Amino acid sequence: MAFEMAAVNDEKKCCYCAGCLIVCPAGAIELRETHISIDKEKCTNCSACVRICPAGAMKIEK
Ligand code: SF4
Ligand code: SF4
Repeated sequence: MAFEMAAVNDEKKCCYCAGCLIVCPAGAIELRETHISIDKEKCTNCSACVRICPAGAMKIEK
């Protein structure tokens, strides 16, 4: 079951450092050619990606 909230990526801020992919315990984040993909079905709202992101490009929202 998916949580109501999930991490979202701001493509304008993201520098594609891949830090969020590495820390995500749910394996919900993938680096694609043109964007960061977040699987809302897998995301548990742990906020690890928000805390690790050096660009402030991750946030948790509905
Ligand atoms: S940690 Fe932040 S800047 Fe790095 S890839 Fe993830 S969203 Fe982008
Ligand atoms: S909030 Fe947690 S589970 Fe969701 S994408 Fe970020 S690191 Fe992964």
